[in-house]
Amino acid sequence: MSAIAIDTRPWYQTALPQAPPRPMLQGSVTADVCVVGAGIAGCSAALHLAERGYRVVQLESEQVGWGASGRSGAQAIFGLAAGQQKLESLLGAADARAIWDVSLEGLSLLRELCARHHIDCDYVPGQLHVAIKPRQQRELAQWHEELQQRYDYRSVSLLSRDQLAAQVASTRYRSGLYDSNSGHLQPLAYVRGLATAAQQQGVQLFERSRALDWSRTSAGLCVRTAQGSVQCRQLLLAGNAWLGDTAPALARRIMGVGTYIVATEVLGEQRARELLPGNAAVTDINWVLDYFRRSSDHRLLFGGRVSYSGLDPFNTAEATRRRMVQVFPQLADVRISHAWGGYVDITMNRAPDFGRLEPDVYYLQGFSGHGIALTGIAGKLVAEAMAGSSERFDVFTRIPHREFPGGTLLRRPALVLAMLWYRLRDLL
Ligand SMILES: Cc1cc2nc3c(=O)[nH]c(=O)nc-3n(C[C@H](O)[C@H](O)[C@H](O)COP(=O)(O)OP(=O)(O)OC[C@H]3O[C@@H](n4cnc5c(N)ncnc54)[C@H](O)[C@@H]3O)c2cc1C
Repeated sequence: MSAIAIDTRPWYQTALPQAPPRPMLQGSVTADVCVVGAGIAGCSAALHLAERGYRVVQLESEQVGWGASGRSGAQAIFGLAAGQQKLESLLGAADARAIWDVSLEGLSLLRELCARHHIDCDYVPGQLHVAIKPRQQRELAQWHEELQQRYDYRSVSLLSRDQLAAQVASTRYRSGLYDSNSGHLQPLAYVRGLATAAQQQGVQLFERSRALDWSRTSAGLCVRTAQGSVQCRQLLLAGNAWLGDTAPALARRIMGVGTYIVATEVLGEQRARELLPGNAAVTDINWVLDYFRRSSDHRLLFGGRVSYSGLDPFNTAEATRRRMVQVFPQLADVRISHAWGGYVDITMNRAPDFGRLEPDVYYLQGFSGHGIALTGIAGKLVAEAMAGSSERFDVFTRIPHREFPGGTLLRRPALVLAMLWYRLRDLL
């Protein structure tokens, strides 16, 4: 097989026309709200605030969708990474139920935003969680029961090994939990569409404009960038794993965990269809999980293998390809065209971390690898809260969070050890 260079840009980026650059902030501007970050969370918040009549200035360090939103596995899934049982134990049944309802609204909001703003992002319904071990088969059955009985969630069905074969051409899995209400999409097209819709509503969006810090003034807040500043009354921090020094108190509550995706060369419609005949997105339920789906141009996008060390100790493209071939041995001859990575912002308890650092400084973070649908509704909730109706936002603020132990020096080694333990558990 002749060697061809692997493109290290996310396939999403190469599949779209190049986005015209937006201006960099220069000089001083005023706004009601300054939004930091132009991923799905920031763009949804900016859009919903502008729809309420707020003057919004949005700052992005790089370009729209540069962060997790434009690199994602892009499976829009019900619920939260932490799971409902964990939420019930943290908050009680009523608040856990309220959060569940918000998560479902997140799925319908995503579809509604695409329809309302004519965002063409290849949304495909259908998502599967799959079991590799007998223990996981039991877990899926219990989950199915919990979703149906306790949450009256009827769009899920439990698939036996034979039924699963009609969805995934792999012998690796024993059973599956299929949800017709979840799905997958082109995430960069989605976030770009949200940004355009927000600008059409009057949002001023600046790229290559990192928010460095903020200070209090007699009129409210002043957010500083390298070449300008935003005078505003309220501030939203939606910078995810890249916020860093802009808000160290937030950065200590999340850990950026590296995860990697490869895109195969174009397989052709028939071969791609044979792999995943129902075109559902798939994720296994290991702690260190594999996730995959078809692209609109008939490739396989396959992700997996987290790096908790924050280093890059292995050849990510080759390691991910090998995992792909474990699932689909029929792809052994297929070339990898793209390989990229991104950081998932996990919290200690895997529940999202929303709140206020000061009464007028809001934040959204900690989606823990489960943010495609939840970021959109989170942006809507923060807009509601800034406008004075904070009941739904405040349910999330009641979720208790802790900082990662060990400060900046010891937190990663501690997490690497924890990961080794979970990796061992996956093997049982
Ligand atoms: C490889 C990968 C696979 C994933 N797969 C899935 C999946 O299948 N399903 C799912 O639900 N979730 C998945 N996720 C998670 C999901 O993509 C994220 O939860 C979601 O996109 C987060 O959106 P966000 O807007 O919060 O952050 P981001 O999209 O990361 O956006 C934050 C933005 O803020 C900017 N920024 C940061 N600091 C500043 C600053 N100081 N000033 C200005 N700008 C700043 C950054 O440049 C960035 O563009 C995945 C994530 C990754 C990385």
